[in-house]
Amino acid sequence: MDLSYSPQEEQFRTELRAWLQRNPPGPEPEDLDEWVRYGKRWQRRLYEAGWCGIAWPKEYGGRGATLIEQVIFQEEMAQARAPLLINLAGLTMGGPVLIAHGTDAQKRRYLKPLLAAEEIWCQGFSEPNAGSDLAALKTRAVLDGDDFVVNGQKVWTSFARYADWCMLLVRTDPDAPKHRGITFLLADMHSPGVTVRPLKQISGAEDFNEVFFEDVRVPRANVIGRIDGGWEIAITTLMHERATLTFSRQLQSRAALDEMIRFARGWQRDGRPALSDPLIRQQVAQALIESAAIRYTAYRSLTKTLRGGGPGPEGSIEKLFWSEMYQRQLETALAIEGPYAQLLKGSARAPADGEFPYLYLYSRGRTIAAGSSEVQRNIVAERVLGLPRGK
Ligand SMILES: Cc1cc2nc3c(=O)[nH]c(=O)nc-3n(C[C@H](O)[C@H](O)[C@H](O)COP(=O)(O)OP(=O)(O)OC[C@H]3O[C@@H](n4cnc5c(N)ncnc54)[C@H](O)[C@@H]3O)c2cc1C
Repeated sequence: MDLSYSPQEEQFRTELRAWLQRNPPGPEPEDLDEWVRYGKRWQRRLYEAGWCGIAWPKEYGGRGATLIEQVIFQEEMAQARAPLLINLAGLTMGGPVLIAHGTDAQKRRYLKPLLAAEEIWCQGFSEPNAGSDLAALKTRAVLDGDDFVVNGQKVWTSFARYADWCMLLVRTDPDAPKHRGITFLLADMHSPGVTVRPLKQISGAEDFNEVFFEDVRVPRANVIGRIDGGWEIAITTLMHERATLTFSRQLQSRAALDEMIRFARGWQRDGRPALSDPLIRQQVAQALIESAAIRYTAYRSLTKTLRGGGPGPEGSIEKLFWSEMYQRQLETALAIEGPYAQLLKGSARAPADGEFPYLYLYSRGRTIAAGSSEVQRNIVAERVLGLPRGK
């Protein structure tokens, strides 16, 4: 593992840092509608300055950044406290999938508005009875002339009510084995027959949604790849989701940890700063050790990818460790606040504006999204440790 940067990479960092100093993102609004407007403005600014979709090839409007440059980009964005990009699903999954499997006409039509946040994308994969076992999905699409007619329901669709396009997995051949007969469609979220209902999460946020499709017509021209060949494309999509996340995840948890330590220095318990309590100190030290461990694990898998190994099943170890570590870290934050941790965002006396209880509640989803902990443990057992398959 070589942790030094080449002169070009240093140059990339200097340029980006200078741009961020001239263009600070500013504080994130609390209200989701306002946050979406803010997120679109921020992504648009990045796009205009050539800092959006940096991993995409230049011919499609990206910057053709190397993996190390992508890591530098994430580090600098975390340092500048920049928000997650509003079109994250489109940028990390939709764009790369279109570039790999889309027709020229589809690339011309969709890539630029996606990059510029003129059109927001969402991911319509999960259903009430198809999450971990995604291939069990039941949403049907039947060809009628030049259109597919879609009927069914998706759930947990992040940002669906702000989305213009949905990466939609549908069953087009109900008689085929379950991994076949699935097609990847790009559905217009403004089509007649699409109903989006927000779901309120335990954290109070409402970025999840249920999406109902009732006789929704999707042109055949919006098939990505081939009809009944959607499973392979879905897998590529999820690989993109997993491959690019490890680095930003560990930076995100590290930022919350630094914030927590700052808070613990100033927060008084029994007339002393919370950080002077030996039990709190021990938990904070453990969190710092785990944070360093995930950082170096992320670097190790980066090195493997740079040497041509590609992200393998070890990614499951990282995802598992990171998500559970992040939850432990936020439990420590709540222990530091003590009984005050019960005061949520919006409460006048909530310490740190209720940020830690909010992050704690939000972090519950981290052991579910992008493959639950149980599913990751199965992968580690079978594909890393070579244990026999469970029944
Ligand atoms: C923050 C967040 C954002 C999300 N955004 C989106 C989105 O934008 N679009 C989208 O399509 N989906 C999204 N999802 C949904 C996510 O993909 C699913 O929640 C996930 O795949 C798990 O599926 P499920 O909720 O149906 O749970 P299930 O698969 O029903 O699992 C229920 C429980 O059973 C366990 N389990 C399941 N199978 C096994 C097994 N084989 N062995 C052992 N245990 C098992 C699970 O670990 C879990 O504890 C999001 C989820 C979260 C938390």
